[in-house]
Amino acid sequence: MEIRITKKELTEIVYDAYEHCKRIKDGKNASYIPYLAKANRDLFGITLCFVDGDVINVGNHDHVFGIESISKVATALLVLKDYGCETILKMIGADATGLSFNSILAILLENDRPSTPLVNAGAIAAVSLVRPVGNRGQKWKAICDNINALCGSRTEFIEELYQSEALSNFKNRSIAWLLKSYNRIYDDPELSLDLYTRQCSLGVTTEQLATFAATIANGGVNPMSGVRLFEARFAPKIISMMASVGFYEYSGDWLFSSGLPAKTGVSGGIMGVLPGLFGIAAFAPPIDEAGNSVKAQAVIRYLMEKTGFNVFECGNIRIDE
Ligand code: GLU
Repeated sequence: MEIRITKKELTEIVYDAYEHCKRIKDGKNASYIPYLAKANRDLFGITLCFVDGDVINVGNHDHVFGIESISKVATALLVLKDYGCETILKMIGADATGLSFNSILAILLENDRPSTPLVNAGAIAAVSLVRPVGNRGQKWKAICDNINALCGSRTEFIEELYQSEALSNFKNRSIAWLLKSYNRIYDDPELSLDLYTRQCSLGVTTEQLATFAATIANGGVNPMSGVRLFEARFAPKIISMMASVGFYEYSGDWLFSSGLPAKTGVSGGIMGVLPGLFGIAAFAPPIDEAGNSVKAQAVIRYLMEKTGFNVFECGNIRIDE
């Protein structure tokens, strides 16, 4: 089927989706990280960024929240650029675990690789690969520079979130050391865990995440800065990872019902990519049992249904001026 829509019509659908979903009360703030437990549960924002840089914003689109697991997408891109697809497939993998984001069982089952850079084990392994290995300061700079460039502006380190997470991340600590026992972490485990925790504590807005997503949708060129941040061949690779595991154990249900490759974070953010057309980000703190924002899922799903957009659509999708 051919889908044709104007930017004006799409803008109306985004506003309508926001109004339709804003009263949803389901879900609970993440409770295992104390800072996230106390976030205002009524915050709700959405941004759509076209590949030409035009933007649609609704609600709390400028509220700064913790990027959490959406940072995994950025660091996966960084190591894909640095090491290439073959090496990342061998050293980390690209398999959906079908299990929770911090599953120990997944590491035991998939015992030759950490499975994918988009779950905690693979993300900590990805951080361990960031160059220069062994150099905390330069590795952190490389991680931040990469995220800032993708977002099109500086992200803000949320010290209170970092402290809160660093004092409660016992499971992630076990993961880092379990990876060490299998020889699947490639720098010091404590250093890798700490930098992973720090990257999760960077504060972003939906505007920044939509720019990040639009950069992927645009094949590696940030539509705001016009700068090429990665080669176009990495875009389908990262999108495939988002599609297969972006919602952890709910990834298949999400992709089936929304038709949009996307990545979530426990603070309530979701970032989705419709290749060649736009990036989208939504934020609302209450999450479901898998750690995915209830309201952000609802608003994106509503928009995808109303427009008929779907990454698996076999016909043409055109957005006209
Ligand atoms: N920093 C969180 C953790 O490691 C990220 C989890 C997520 O956002 O899914 O537990």
